[in-house]
Amino acid sequence: MPIKKEIKQEKYLHLSGLEPLVLNENSNFINVGERTNVAGSRKFLRLIKEEKFEEALAVARHQVEGGAQIIDINMDDGLIDGKQAMVRFLNLIAAEPDICRVPLMIDSSKWEIIEAGLQVVQGKSIVNSISLKEGEENFIWQATQVKRYGAAVIVMAFDEVGQADTYQRRIEIAERSYRVLVDKVGFASEDIIFDLNIFPVATGMEEHRKNAIDFIEATRWVRQNLPNVSVSGGVSNVSFSFRGNNTVREAMHSVFLYYAIQAGMNIGIVNPAMLEIYDDIPKDLLAHIEDIILDKREDATERLLDFAETVKGVKKQDEATVLAWRSLPLQDRITHCLVKGIDAFILEDIEQARQEAQKPIQVIEGNLMIGMNVVGDLFGAGKMFLPQVVKSARVMKKAVAYLNPFIEAEKGEKQQALGKVLMATVKGDVHDIGKNIVSVVLGCNNYEIVDLGVMVAPEKIIEMAKKEQVDIIGLSGLITPSLDEMVYLAKEMERQNFTVPLLIGGATTSKAHTAVKIDTQYKNAVVHVNDASRAVTVVSDLLNKETSNAYVAKLKKDYDEFREKFLKRGKSKAYISIEEARKRKFKIDWETSSIVKPKELGVQTIEQVSLKDLLPFIDWSPFFRSWDLHGKYPAILTDEIVGEQATQLFEDSRIILDKIITKQLLKPKGIFGLFEANSINDDDISIQKNSKEIAVFRTLRQQLKKRDGKPSIALADFIAPKESGKQDYMGAFCTAIFGADQLAKKYKDQEDDYNAIMVQAIADRFAEAFAEYLHHRIRTKHWGYAFDENLSNEELIKETYKGIRPAPGYPACPDHLEKQTIWSLLNVEQKIGVTLTDSLAMWPAAAVSGYYFANKEAKYFGLGKITDDQVRDFATRKNITLEKARKWLHPAIAEV
Ligand code: SAH
Repeated sequence: MPIKKEIKQEKYLHLSGLEPLVLNENSNFINVGERTNVAGSRKFLRLIKEEKFEEALAVARHQVEGGAQIIDINMDDGLIDGKQAMVRFLNLIAAEPDICRVPLMIDSSKWEIIEAGLQVVQGKSIVNSISLKEGEENFIWQATQVKRYGAAVIVMAFDEVGQADTYQRRIEIAERSYRVLVDKVGFASEDIIFDLNIFPVATGMEEHRKNAIDFIEATRWVRQNLPNVSVSGGVSNVSFSFRGNNTVREAMHSVFLYYAIQAGMNIGIVNPAMLEIYDDIPKDLLAHIEDIILDKREDATERLLDFAETVKGVKKQDEATVLAWRSLPLQDRITHCLVKGIDAFILEDIEQARQEAQKPIQVIEGNLMIGMNVVGDLFGAGKMFLPQVVKSARVMKKAVAYLNPFIEAEKGEKQQALGKVLMATVKGDVHDIGKNIVSVVLGCNNYEIVDLGVMVAPEKIIEMAKKEQVDIIGLSGLITPSLDEMVYLAKEMERQNFTVPLLIGGATTSKAHTAVKIDTQYKNAVVHVNDASRAVTVVSDLLNKETSNAYVAKLKKDYDEFREKFLKRGKSKAYISIEEARKRKFKIDWETSSIVKPKELGVQTIEQVSLKDLLPFIDWSPFFRSWDLHGKYPAILTDEIVGEQATQLFEDSRIILDKIITKQLLKPKGIFGLFEANSINDDDISIQKNSKEIAVFRTLRQQLKKRDGKPSIALADFIAPKESGKQDYMGAFCTAIFGADQLAKKYKDQEDDYNAIMVQAIADRFAEAFAEYLHHRIRTKHWGYAFDENLSNEELIKETYKGIRPAPGYPACPDHLEKQTIWSLLNVEQKIGVTLTDSLAMWPAAAVSGYYFANKEAKYFGLGKITDDQVRDFATRKNITLEKARKWLHPAIAEV
């Protein structure tokens, strides 16, 4: 490696665990282990959540043994008490000399966690990270604290405007940060490590072409101009667009590092397993990658893409080994097809099996079931994941569809299923991804599924259950009114002397609601099952003749106890009256608060937006969640446990996605309106046109008793009251994706549930992305109150922007009724064709609607439970019967 000349260095970064680590000009590149990061490793997250700290320590040890010279520790997760976990883990590490010999990096976005870590860590550690993101004052304060604790610090190239993504921005922010740290804080320059943001290249987007070279050149500038500092970064990001092709990725990492290290990058997060030896990179591949990293040619990306096809996978498995399994015995081949979800050879193998069998049905009962049992066992043991199982089911279905004509021709008996399960999304609700996944998984475990689809009336469910003599009824729902439908159905089943078990699932359902509201209505088994992997065992336990009685008795007892505990806990909560809550409203100083008049008042429809425009706004994490793969995108793609599956799923989704985009198979339609508005009578918002009222939104106010001084919020608090004399504004919108239903059906008709579910999940993503896109356009253009906003996709997903878009049915406004007001105000149905069901779900299902609030103090919150005085008040304000108000607000009403 060439010598790093021109680096200004008189003082060196000294770090230590039990042993010192000094970064001088002779030091090699320092690599940081990142597996002890809950955001970077699913396994570590699970261990911490389950408080398996001993095993978590083993992860740290493994890192150090594997050559990590520093380890990064991060406990930032919504379900973890991060501060406590950090302190506990650091204390445990301190007692393990083979781990704590290396310096630690205390990583958190919360200052209190960093500080707690600094208070217990021994040696000289690194704080990860601080930046100018929240302004200079905050930056100075944090840096002063870091200095006081004697730690080194990572400074992100991030300022008030956003993350640095060009050469110029990187060096400007680095220089400004350096000057503040050195001149104003008196921070030792050698203790500063800049993270200059490594972003992906070869994404196909023009603006990403210089991502690598800008980082490298900025690194060079920083090391030459800011004396004594270090430069760091997370390397795997750079090759992000080649997920799934490790040959290319590993080579990209090496090439990138080759140049970045020469330029002066001396620390980094690198997975050593994902690094090819520079000299071993084939020369042709090397040339293509250099073109990309150094941005040498305009067509570098296309050329590498073409070339990548030829190297894909060849390194680890050549063509011959890939197909070696084809020479296995017949049953092994069939099992292999099923386990791997490969459908290219299945018909060939099935035909052979059919010829060898006495009756075609035996192929299903024998060969295919043997294979599916292997799938079932692997899934049960957590060795296969949901998308794989759905793919296996696709192979199974293809095989069965092929065999059916032979079976019918023989008039042979149909295959005997283990049981019959009715599945339905309840009346008024349109969401069925989860239900479809459960159906497929049960189906491939040899249960016969009677799927009644969405918006199924209770009478229909009862009728079909009787007619089909089903063994189990499964109900699904996503929106809160569906909960009441489920309660109603349980009552009806009881009244009509049903005995079959009732399964409850879907996003809005919970064990608490099932125990308190549904289980009490039905004498027989009621089970809340919210993930597909559990569905199989629950159904098999329920239908096992020998043990089912004991199982059901245990279930009933479990739900009894759960209910008792739950109700007790609920009763201990205290509420304040609605009058009192209004006195404690969220106060904005309307004299000084800035109100921007929208540039374009009135209603506009949007039909010309293309799917391609929406693509960059997609938040992918929920996509993986819908397939039961949990974790944040993009980290999930390289996750230790689900990474491979997540990557495979993502690649599969890309195929459909490309087709959808190029053939325009889905159609986005949106509408929004911006209006004059003032809050009136505390909790209502009057919408006006030319000062004449045209609609009123009713909002709900928090009533749970809080600590003194904490406000009881309602959305109306974010709009200037009429009495203030100030004219304020608000908006409303609906975004929807049309065509998913028809497209999913096409796949379903081809026995391809995998892609049918994929289409629905992608449509949901586009609907949310459209909401994100539109909100951005509102802020920067139509309303224009944040015309200079410049946020990355990540920041959009984190909702760091000014203003909010709360959606009826979500925590701040759980009541769906206000959708009707939005619909009539914007004329949604006539203009873009999105309709509301009986339960006020939107159709098509891939749709989002909500309000826009622009005030900078507006924030998302959860309403929590409210009490009957507010329900009565709401009924009066809205001029509806108390009964109706109770019905719609019911999920938000406290049990008192
Ligand atoms: N980025 C996520 C957003 C999910 S939340 C995704 O793509 O799935 C869905 C919508 O609910 C948001 O777009 C926002 O409009 C709204 N929302 C979020 N938090 C809310 C809250 N506390 N109260 C009301 N609406 C909320």
